[in-house]
Amino acid sequence: MSAAVNKANATGSAPGRKPDCAGLSKRSESLRARKMRAAEIVRRLKEEYPDTHCTLAYDEAWKLLVSVRLAAQCTDARVDQITPVLYAHFPTVEALAEASEDAIEEIVRPCGLGRSKARDIKACMTMLMEVYGGVVPDTMEELLRLPGVGRKSANLVLGDIYGKPAIVTDTHCIRLSNRMGLVDGEKDPHKVEKALWQLIPPEESNDFCHRMVDHGRAVCTARTATPNCGACCVADLCPKKF
Ligand code: SF4
Repeated sequence: MSAAVNKANATGSAPGRKPDCAGLSKRSESLRARKMRAAEIVRRLKEEYPDTHCTLAYDEAWKLLVSVRLAAQCTDARVDQITPVLYAHFPTVEALAEASEDAIEEIVRPCGLGRSKARDIKACMTMLMEVYGGVVPDTMEELLRLPGVGRKSANLVLGDIYGKPAIVTDTHCIRLSNRMGLVDGEKDPHKVEKALWQLIPPEESNDFCHRMVDHGRAVCTARTATPNCGACCVADLCPKKF
């Protein structure tokens, strides 16, 4: 966190810029203008967080599905502590499909919602085995058929595993998109996703969402009274809608 803040301070990227969107929160913005502003936000975040990636640890596609299910209402750090234990007991899709819900729940309980997560993981791995031969599918439609997999998870898989354009609207992405005025008072993940598709070039979409997470953790934090706007690389592009 501090590295990004320090970098912004050190380069003087935010405080020295002359705000060119001072009146943005008071007037409507055309789609074209918003697209241009979004393009510059994409560019700045890319510069600020060049090596962005998903913070969930995985080395196989199915493990990302497991991790993202466990990450619901849990931190990525906690998930990354639990999954090695889970895979030590159940190292394959088949092993998890055949495991009892109780055995899975026993391990994943520290992530919260243990019962439903265990049920979804077993059902998801079972469907992967029975319908997809143990291979994670590469289309939104097929991914959404898997138990416990919603659009956010499906987009993460499409982007990170298959390199396809993907907009992952997690809590950071939704918060920052609103503060930055890329969406207007919109909290519904699917509606935010649709709005961002209009603004973000497809080839930038997946990494852009990872960078929104980076920025949400490092600078534009959830503590609404104290986002670090003074050290923010997009301060002059942001209407700061708290
Ligand atoms: S609200 Fe502040 S910290 Fe967040 S993106 Fe806007 S200027 Fe940056």
